[in-house]
Amino acid sequence: MRRKIAILGATGSIGKSTLDLVERNPERFEVVAVTAATNSEALADIARRTCAKLAVVADESRLGDLCERLAGTDCEAAAGERALTDAATADADLVIAAIVGCAGLGPVMAAVEAGKTVALANKEALVTAGSLMTEAATKNGSTLLPVDSEHNAIFQCLACSSRESVSKIILTASGGPFRTASAETMRDATPAQAVAHPNWSMGAKISVDSATMMNKGLELIEAHYLFGVPSDRIDIVIHPQSVVHSLVEFADGSVLAQLGSPDMRIPIAYALAWPERMPTPAQRLDLAAISRLDFEAPDPERFPALRLARAALEQGGAAPIVLNAANETAVERFLRGSIGFTEIARLVGRALDENISTSPASIEDVLEIDRLTRARVDALMQAA
Ligand code: NDP
Repeated sequence: MRRKIAILGATGSIGKSTLDLVERNPERFEVVAVTAATNSEALADIARRTCAKLAVVADESRLGDLCERLAGTDCEAAAGERALTDAATADADLVIAAIVGCAGLGPVMAAVEAGKTVALANKEALVTAGSLMTEAATKNGSTLLPVDSEHNAIFQCLACSSRESVSKIILTASGGPFRTASAETMRDATPAQAVAHPNWSMGAKISVDSATMMNKGLELIEAHYLFGVPSDRIDIVIHPQSVVHSLVEFADGSVLAQLGSPDMRIPIAYALAWPERMPTPAQRLDLAAISRLDFEAPDPERFPALRLARAALEQGGAAPIVLNAANETAVERFLRGSIGFTEIARLVGRALDENISTSPASIEDVLEIDRLTRARVDALMQAA
C-alpha cells in the first residue's frame, strides 16, 4: 500500500525537497493534493508530474491559469481558503504542512481537527496557536511530526526515553550569515546578504529569520509546545557547522544528539517514513573531514530577537501571536527594501510593548490578533 500524501506549500523549498523524495520512491508514495499561494505554473507542473487529484492555489485570481494548465488531466483545480482546507483534509495518510507564515495556520488546524498525521514544517502555526493546536491534536487523535531539523532531532532523541526524564532541551543554531558581523554591518545589511545562509538553502522568509535569529526564537516557542518543556529548560547554543541538529539532556546527565549533513531531506524523510526509516540521497557525514564541532553562546546584543521571543513565550497569551505577526510584517518590508535589517527586531519589540491583553480562545481570535498587529506595525512604520 502506497502512503498517500498531501503537500501544502508544494512549490516552496520544503515542498520541493519533499517532492524530490516522493518522486524517487514512487512505489512508496502517492501524492493526492498539492497547494501554492500564487505560483500556478509550478503547481500545475507538480500536479501533472505526480498525478495529484487536487491542486489548490490560494490566490483566486490564479485559478483560471491553473485550470488552463491542468486541462486534459484528472486533477481538479481549485482556489481560495476553503479549497486549501479541502487539500489539508483530503484523503491523505500524511499532510506535509509547508506553507510559510501564519497563512498556514487555518489549513494545519483543519488537518489536525480531521485527525491527520501532520509533518509540520510551518512553525508559525505552532507559535501562534500552540495550546489550541496541541489540545486539538490530543482531542482528535492527530499526530504532529516535527520537520524543522532541530525539533526533528529532539523527536528522534526522545524516541527511546520517557519525556518525564528530560531535564533540558538544547537547540542548536548556525548563527546565520551575520554570526561574526559587526553591529554596523548588520545595520546596513541588504536583503541579498541576509538571505545568503552559510549552510542551509531555504525560502526567503526563514532565511531572514535565521539572519536575525528570530528563527531560533520561533523554534524555542515551537519546542515548548511540541515537547511540553518550559522556557527555562530550553537552551540555545550556536553551532556554526550545522551538523548537530539539537540535543536532549536527561535526568541522569546523559546528553543525546542527532547529527547529519544540513539537508532538509533527512528530517522530511524521517516524517515521510515514520515510524520506519527510508534511504535519502543526502550526503553522508565524514567526521574526519569535518574534524571539529564548535559551540558558543549567542550574542544577545546583536541578536535581540532571541530575548524578545523568550519574553513572548514567558508572557504567553497573545504575545507569541504579536511577536510572529510583527516579525512577518517587518521581514516582508525588509525584503521589499522599505526598512533596514536591524529595524526588524526593533519593530517587533515595539509591537510587543503594546501589551495586547487578550488571550486567544479560538483560531478566529488568533487571526484577529494577527491582523491587528500587522496594522499596528504598518502604523509604526508610517510614523517613523
Ligand atoms: P517558501 O517560501 O520556500 O515556500 C512557501 C510555500 O508556501 C510556497 O509553496 C508558497 O506558494 C506557499 N505560500 C506562501 N504564502 C501562502 C499563502 N498566503 N497561502 C497559501 N500558501 C502560501 O518557504 P519554505 O519552504 O522555506 O518554508 C515553509 C515553512 O517551513 C516555513 O514555515 C518555514 O519556517 C518552515 N521551515 C523551512 C525550512 C527550510 O529549509 N526551507 C526548514 C525548517 C522549517 P508560492 O510558491 O505560490 O508562493
